Amino acid sequence: MAKNRTIPTLVPRRTRRPKGAEKWFDALIVAGTDDVRKANPLLGSEHRPRPPLRRRFLPQTARQTALIGEVISVLNEMRADLGLDAVVINPQRFRILPAKVYRRAGRNRESRGFTAKGWTYLNATYCRDEVDLLGILTHEIVHLMSFSVLVLWPRLHGERFTGFFDGFRTFGYRQGDFAAPLWAFNEAITEIIADELRARLVAKGVVRGRNARRLRNWWRTTYIAYLIGFLRLSLGNSAEEVSVAFRTFAIDYFRGTRKFVPILRRLGLLEGLLDLDPIEEDIIAFVTEQAHRLNL
Ligand SMILES: [Zn+2]
Repeated sequence: MAKNRTIPTLVPRRTRRPKGAEKWFDALIVAGTDDVRKANPLLGSEHRPRPPLRRRFLPQTARQTALIGEVISVLNEMRADLGLDAVVINPQRFRILPAKVYRRAGRNRESRGFTAKGWTYLNATYCRDEVDLLGILTHEIVHLMSFSVLVLWPRLHGERFTGFFDGFRTFGYRQGDFAAPLWAFNEAITEIIADELRARLVAKGVVRGRNARRLRNWWRTTYIAYLIGFLRLSLGNSAEEVSVAFRTFAIDYFRGTRKFVPILRRLGLLEGLLDLDPIEEDIIAFVTEQAHRLNL
């Protein structure tokens, strides 16, 4: 199968518009299939944005809506710096679910938020504390953005696509370089971009003092924290080099391109990433220390 070739871009026919949807979700861009005609009807069933669990959410408080607005605003500031258009996101795309309902959606007690088909669901338990809420929002809004560029694998099999990716996440593709372990890679990239959003929130004074420090250290899991450190150290030796690399992968992530992955491969870093051993506490400490040293 040809990889990285120029592929047609499909903007699907406008379907019935979900209530409260924004223009950019209607114009969901799908690239990567070699049969646009076949892909179009499939989008309706598999990938059309729709709000499951729509009835069981809690109303947002005015403060929660305001914080969601701040996150959308820093996202657009970052997009502008990357040369990307601003996006309109309705704050009601972030559904706060009571813990019980959230768990029924197949998530465990510790899970704080997830994004599916263009909607983000937040576990109400973690929405009371502002730092937790901002930590989750900054992460999930990056996933939400990746959904706006859905890349389907060129091969179609019967009625289904054989695989797809959004951001750097890959599903269903068994051959080649982009198999399941890239879940962690995707999460790390998501979290690096999220951390940039957190830095901007702090710079704007949305959170201050101790809460600002808590937000900058808001890691999801030690494994992801390690991957982030690994990527950052791999990207360059100075804050400037890291910032150039950041631009490349953030743009890739938001546009569905994938220049960054071959770069990692050429540098021999992709294999390293996929071969990571279980995490040792001292490795995490080392990586965190290096990241701080580089002022990242
Ligand atoms: Zn995630």
